[in-house]
Amino acid sequence: MRESREARYERDSETEIHGMRRRRLRPKRRRPLDDGSYVCPSCGETIEIPLDPSAGDEQSYVEDCPVCCHPNVIHVEFFGPDEPPRVFADAE
Ligand SMILES: [Zn+2]
Repeated sequence: MRESREARYERDSETEIHGMRRRRLRPKRRRPLDDGSYVCPSCGETIEIPLDPSAGDEQSYVEDCPVCCHPNVIHVEFFGPDEPPRVFADAE
C-alpha cells in the first residue's frame, strides 16, 4: 500500500495590509442634508444630486437623467436644518 503524500502547498500570502481596510460607504463630500436623491420616472434609477439650500426653500428645475438622458423636472423643498429636504421628479 502506497502512502499518498499530500503535498503541502504553502501559498506565499501576498502582502496584505490589514491596517488599511476601508469600508465603502457612501462618499461623503457634503453634509447629508445637502444631498438629495430622486427616482427617475423614466428609467426608475435613483439619482443622487447635490442640493443648494441657498437657492431657495422651494426649487424646481429641469435636469437630464444621467442614466437615460430623459429630461426631468426636479422639485426640491427644504423644511429646515433638522429635516431632510424633499426631492422628487416629474417627467417633463
Ligand atoms: Zn432615467
